[in-house]
Parts: sequence; structure tokens; C-alpha cells
Amino acid sequence: MLKLKNISKTYTIGEFSQNALDKVNLEFRQSEFVSVLGPSGGGKTTLLNVIGGLDHADSGDLIINGESTKSFKDKQWDMYRNNSIGFVFQSHNLISHLSVLQNVEMGLSLSGTNAQEKRKRAIEVLDKVGLKDHIHKNPNQLSGGQSQRVAIARALANNPDVILADEPTGSLDTETGTQVLDLIKEIAKEKLVIMVTHDSEMAYKYANRVINIRDGKITDDSNPIKDDIEESGTLNLKKTAMSFTTAFISSVNNIKTKLGRTILTAFAGSIGIIGIALILSLSNGMQGEIDNFERETLSSYPITIEPIFIDFLGFMEYSAEQDDLESHPSYDYITPESNIFDENTKINNINQDYTEYIDRYIANEGQETLAGYSYNYRINMSLLSEIDSEYVEIYTESSIVSGPSGFGPGDNMIPFYLQPDGLVFDDNYDLLAGEAPVNDFENKQIEVYLAISAFNQMPREYLEALGFDLDNIEENTQINFSEFVGKQVKLFVGDYDTDSDINEAYTVTVSGIIRTKENSNISLFMRNGLVYPPEVEEYLMTTYPQEIGGIQSISLYPNDFSNKDKVLTYLDNYNIGKTETNAIFYNDQAALFTSISGGIIDAISIVLIAFASISLVVSSIMISIITYVSVIERTKEIGVLRALGARKKDISRVFNTENIIIGFSAGLVGIIITLLLMIPINIILENMSDISNIAKLRPLHIISLIIISIFLAFVAGLIPARMAAKKDPVIALRTE
Ligand code: ADP
Ligand code: MG
Repeated sequence: MLKLKNISKTYTIGEFSQNALDKVNLEFRQSEFVSVLGPSGGGKTTLLNVIGGLDHADSGDLIINGESTKSFKDKQWDMYRNNSIGFVFQSHNLISHLSVLQNVEMGLSLSGTNAQEKRKRAIEVLDKVGLKDHIHKNPNQLSGGQSQRVAIARALANNPDVILADEPTGSLDTETGTQVLDLIKEIAKEKLVIMVTHDSEMAYKYANRVINIRDGKITDDSNPIKDDIEESGTLNLKKTAMSFTTAFISSVNNIKTKLGRTILTAFAGSIGIIGIALILSLSNGMQGEIDNFERETLSSYPITIEPIFIDFLGFMEYSAEQDDLESHPSYDYITPESNIFDENTKINNINQDYTEYIDRYIANEGQETLAGYSYNYRINMSLLSEIDSEYVEIYTESSIVSGPSGFGPGDNMIPFYLQPDGLVFDDNYDLLAGEAPVNDFENKQIEVYLAISAFNQMPREYLEALGFDLDNIEENTQINFSEFVGKQVKLFVGDYDTDSDINEAYTVTVSGIIRTKENSNISLFMRNGLVYPPEVEEYLMTTYPQEIGGIQSISLYPNDFSNKDKVLTYLDNYNIGKTETNAIFYNDQAALFTSISGGIIDAISIVLIAFASISLVVSSIMISIITYVSVIERTKEIGVLRALGARKKDISRVFNTENIIIGFSAGLVGIIITLLLMIPINIILENMSDISNIAKLRPLHIISLIIISIFLAFVAGLIPARMAAKKDPVIALRTE
């Protein structure tokens, strides 16, 4: 069934060539006990390795069941070793981190036998070698004889046709050696057993055929095959592959035996993950706070464009410059000072061209970048309140440029504000009483909101303007909301004087009371007052074009800082190529209060993440080194697995699986440590800033970080794992 034809194998080291096998011709019977005798270095092991498909001849042919193996590829050799050959080595070569049972099962696992069948067969062969009671032991809990019997059971598990035993009793005392030989002899009744030994007495006593080999040549054969025996049967090879479960079990067991080291590795690998997770959690939380801050700041302080531009920043810079000057100097001269008001004030010629430019923005990009906007035109109009049966002007607006807005009501008794368009209003105001305004222009009915302060207070003159009798109003008087809702004043469009007909005026009714939301610190309107909806402005502009002056102010409310930058860029672009007189200057009010720009937080996060990534790289290198060490340590195991029929792929799979487990543990440890660290960090930050739970780790980030950790460990271990797979099994088995 097995035939060696002219097999030669030469090892060359440097210039020195060694003929390990020299034109060997041999033929074996289906079942016989062959003993191979010979001096050390004679070529015995090489012969077994070639027969077992672990090593390959330089020339000649190994014929199995009449089939030449010349065209065999790695895959077929792997299958051959797994299905047809059982190796028993001098040192038993059991895998120390697997149990006795798992060691015996390994060959079966590689041929894809199902778990139940595997267990049954393994127990069967362990029973045969008399070790049924030791199946759950670890190899290092067994005696030498027991170990060798496990190795024999392992060789038998797949029910191979050939058992190759290389000095199986070499490391045993005579008594246990004899027991093992009895067992092998028993096996040889139904299988071909080829056993290398240096003990010729044993050889002749047990074997029914003794072959002598010296310097790679067969010098004697006690029972050669005379006539060519009829070849029977064909070579049927079953595919081998290690399942993920087998690789996983093996990896978990190996990790268990080196628990301390693995925990350290996982911990080291987790440091990079901790770094990134902490930065992410902090920047997440900070981003939330910053978003709030941005929205609040930006809605309190919009970008405004007014006919008279006052450069507040210029004023601030100027006073900063003055701080550098010596005050109350002792010198006796005077230096001229430029007119800072003139220098920092410019007339904005807000023409149709510009309003169209802004309109285009609001209709397009502004949909995304703006939370709201308002166009406030100067309208010739007055609000009149009936006080002591006389109509008194409580608010007057002129169509002529009067000065920058925001400097107070002047002679006005109550402010009359334009409600901005967009979310910024609904986002920040609660309706406390009454309803939203509904206008009926045809019947000269206009409705407005009354805005009140966060403290439910209102200046006395406002109350007076609304017709409350001041003499009866004490400091702690409580005036119910219901007394305000429905309050009426008149709106007269045009120049109001004593001759004006009050019947031409519109009735302005307070339809609801609004106040800033509790969680918003903003105040769209500097003071409380009456707030009229944008459609009133539109209606008045179309109905009374002759009473309309230019723009009093355009307010744009960006929804965050990076969008503010976009809005500013758009406004700046208008001025490109324009002279100073035609250019339009805006006030970025938020810039007066904060110099934070959208990019800064992002930039800080990126820099920090870059630093943390370096630690990730370092931990990846560590995992790579540890895998490398593990490969070196487990060289023998790699050889054994290959002898059992494991493919190269399977070897790398064992190491890859192990690295994936380490990567997963590192990720998990990293996340757990981060979550623990976040507790004190949040406490400290809360003490510092009054904001609770700043550091937040999003589930998506947790999952991504664990995946990254697994991926990095996998990649880091790829090269060592491939090295392991590429190891020559013969050399691997020879290493001690
Ligand atoms: P035996 O098992 O009879 O002691 P071997 O088959 O191990 O002999 O070795 C036969 C010869 O081939 C020896 O001279 C040995 O040094 C040489 N040899 C075996 N394997 C290698 C190898 N991997 N590299 C170089 N020389 C080797
Ligand atoms: Mg040898």
C-alpha cells in the first residue's frame, strides 16, 4: 500500500551537503509492524517524515495505494497527514494548554468531525490506551508513559492507515516502554506501524520486520516484499480545515494558561483606547455644552447691519491701546489724538442691491445656517395709549435715520420690537398667557405679544404706557396676566399730531404674554416691551410706501459658531472690490463677548486624538511583539498541529483568533476603565463648572472603539501569525 521509489533527500547547510536519504526503495504491507534501526543521523527520522508527508523528497516518488504523490500540493499533503497518518514522537509533544481529551480531539477537529462524534471517538481510543479516567487532566499532570499513550491515542483518533512512531519509548523507563510497545504491537495487528528505535533487542522482539538504515541507505531488511503485491484500493482523502470554534477553544485555553501575561497585554493595549475614549467622552460632553452656549450667545447677539455702523471692536482696541499709555504723565506737552468716534463710525449705504444680496442668502444657505433673521425698516409711526382720556404717544419711530438702535427707547415709553423670523423665536420663548397674534388688517386690528422679564417684572413707565394707573401701583403690587391680555393701544402710521384723526389708527391688542424659556439665558429684546409679528411690518411697507424709510437694522441669528463663520464670509464677500463708501460693515455682537470660533474645539479634539492614537500604535506594536514571542514559544505546537494535518491557514487562524480575543479584551478593559474614570472626572468638572455629567461616552463610540481595538490587534498580529504559518513543520518539530 505504501511504496518508496528511489527516494533521495539531501540537506545542504552552507557548502556542506548531507545525504539524509539516498535512493531508498521500500515497500510496506497493509498491516505489519516495521522497526527501523540505525545509528544516530542515519536518516530514520527523515524517512518517517517523508513517509508521513511532513517532509518531501528531492527526487523519487512516494506511492500511496498505487497513486503517485509527485503532483501533490500542500492541501493534499495536509489531508494525507490528517486522514492517513498518525504520528507518535519521542517526546510525546502534547499541546500543554489543551486537556488530554482536547489533544486527542485535535486531529478529529481538523477533519471536521462533529462535536459528539469527536468526543465518542476520542474516549474510545483513550479507553483503548487505558486512560479513560484521565481525559480531563492536563498533559503535565501525567506520567511519561501516560503521556506517550495519549500521544498514541491522538495518532489513532482519526483511524489512520499508517502509524509512524519515532523512538516512542526513547524517553521512557524499560517497564513503561514495554507497556507502550505492547500497545503498539496490538495496533499493528490491523495497521501498518513503522517505528524507529535504536534498541535492536526490542526491535527484533516486537516487530515482524526490521529495516536497518545507515547514511541514508537501506543496509538490511529482514522481511522484504518479494513479489510486487497487487495494489488494492484507492486513495480517498478527506478535506481538512480548522473550524473557528476549534481555533477559539485552543486560543482561549492558551490564553488561560498565560492569564497574567494576557491581562497585562490587554491592559497595555487598552491604554490607547482609554485615551481616545476619554477624549471622545469629554469632547462629546463639551460639544453639548458648547452647542448650548453657542445657541444662547448667538441668539442674544446676532449679526447686525445698521445704517450707522459703530465699530465696537475698534473702540475696545482703542481703549486697550490707551491702557498702554502713561496716565497722569509728568511731561509738559500734548499729543494730538484722532477722533475715535469718527474713526470707528461709518455710514452703511444699505441699498436694494444689498438687501437682495441678503435675501438671496436667507432663501438659500441661510436655511441651514440661520436660526432666524429680521429686517427692520424705519417706518413713520406712533403708538398711542389712552391715558386720562387722552391719547399719549408711547412710542415713535421715524423714517429718517436717527442713530444706531439698541441705545434705549429715548423719549419712547415702551419699546416696540419686530419679532424675528425663524426658529430662534419659538426656540427661546414660552407663551405664558393668551395666544399668538392674529391680524385683521382690513378691520384695522393688529395683535402683538407683550414680552416680560425672566423675573416677571416690568418697568413702571411701561405699565403706565399700557394704561395702568401709576398712583395705585405699589412696588409689590401683583397685576394678573389677564389684565395685560387684551390691553389695547393704537398704532398711527405717519406723523401724528393733535390734528390727526385717531380713527385712522389701528387697534393694537396684546394677544399673549411671552417670556424667555427657563433653560435659555437669552433675551432677543434688550428690554421687555411689545413685539409685533413680521407680517405687520410687511403689511405696513406695502400699504404705506411713502412712510417707509430705509433699513433700520438687519439682524441675522446664526445657529452655531461655525455657521456664523459662514454667514460672516458671505457678508465679507459682498465687500470684495467695493470702495470704503460702498462697502457694508456689520457688527458681530457675539465677537464682542467671546473669541471662540467653530474650529477651535474641533482642532483641540483632533490634536488630543492624534496623541491618543500614538499610544494605540504603541500598544499595537506591543501586541505584535507578544504574538511574535508566543509564536517562538509555540513552535513545537505548530509542528504538532501541522503533523496532525493542520493547514498553514489553520496555524495563522489560531494566532489570529488569539489576537482578536486579546484585542476584544483590550477594548473592553479600555471602555470599562474609561467609564470608571469618568465618575471622578465628572465630579471634578461639576465642582469646577456646575455642569453635571460633562463626560459622556456614546454607545456608538463604545462599539467603534472595541472594533478598532480588535482590528488593530488583528493587524498587529498578522505578520507573526504568518511567520508561524510558514514555519517548516519538520524544523518546528526538531526544535526543543
Ligand atoms: P536520525 O533520525 O536517523 O538520527 P535524521 O533523519 O534526523 O537522522 O537525519 C539524517 C541526516 O540529515 C543527519 O545527518 C541530520 O544532521 C541531517 N538533517 C536532518 N534534518 C536536517 C535539517 N533540517 N537540516 C540539515 N540537516 C538535517
Ligand atoms: Mg531521529
